[in-house]
Amino acid sequence: MNWISDWALPKIQTLFGTKRDVPENLWVKCPSCEQMVFHRDLERGLHVCPHCGHHMRIGATRRLDYTLDAGWQRIELPKAPLDPLRFRDQRRYVDRLKEAQTKTGLDEAVVVGHGTIEGRRAVVAAFDFNFLAGSMSAGVGEALVAAAKLAVLQDAPLIVFSASGGARMQEGALSLMQMPRTVIATRMVKEAGLPFIAVLCDPTTGGVTASFAMLGDIQIAEPKALIGFAGARVIEQTVREKLPEGFQRAEYLLEHGILDMVVKRGDMKETLARLIALLREPVPPGTPVEEPELEPVGAAVPPPPDIAAPRPGRPAPPAEPAAPKN
Ligand SMILES: [Zn+2]
Repeated sequence: MNWISDWALPKIQTLFGTKRDVPENLWVKCPSCEQMVFHRDLERGLHVCPHCGHHMRIGATRRLDYTLDAGWQRIELPKAPLDPLRFRDQRRYVDRLKEAQTKTGLDEAVVVGHGTIEGRRAVVAAFDFNFLAGSMSAGVGEALVAAAKLAVLQDAPLIVFSASGGARMQEGALSLMQMPRTVIATRMVKEAGLPFIAVLCDPTTGGVTASFAMLGDIQIAEPKALIGFAGARVIEQTVREKLPEGFQRAEYLLEHGILDMVVKRGDMKETLARLIALLREPVPPGTPVEEPELEPVGAAVPPPPDIAAPRPGRPAPPAEPAAPKN
């Protein structure tokens, strides 16, 4: 009796207001249009609001499920030093870390998987914003280096879905060191002649934007994703100017040449497969290339228009004075 638990129960609860807060796992409120979306509809629509098209934030494992063909494999990530600075603010960093691990079921803010995308091999790394805001720690750096190495080993393209608040401040300078480290990792992929595709998801900011995430051979973003280095409010206060409409949103960046394309979640897998095919399957050697038929030189070239000829609405040019005779 699935329909009772799936449909009837939540409906009754909503109608009678038995619970002020509708159970999160059954009805989800769209953060953009504030309409309620049934969890099954949401899952079917890849977590894109059916009312307004808002692309909701999704976890890393789900992202890999949506991107790779069934049967993809998650790799075990190399261990990074845990809490190297023994950092503590209001709470200990190790406690925050444990809480994030319990909440997401992940060890770190990145999941790396390999498999195929519409039959084409690929290594995919995805950030999980729910894990300490997808912040970049030494562990995240390790994960991206491992993903790059795997891509080279498997002769497969590397695709990284980023969603991050930037560096993980609890790891101080060690977190900042991941910026050059991840850049070197992506260079490794490029030097092996393999494509690196960056897919920027909502939000991609700070140290992630300032490192590997902007270095893709192809730069893609999800619709309306927030992409930037510093926050809009900070910039506004610094430059003391009103920022333009849609500033730091994917569409604005596309218009200004920072991105190559903005792709809806529903079209992402197909687009990635097409890009991999274009970048990885050049015309095999020996394929006859059709020569375009060239027109014989000087045959059908139209004569230049007589610019001196009078046209309607334009007075005839004055006649040139005759050359003086000697
Ligand atoms: Zn919506």
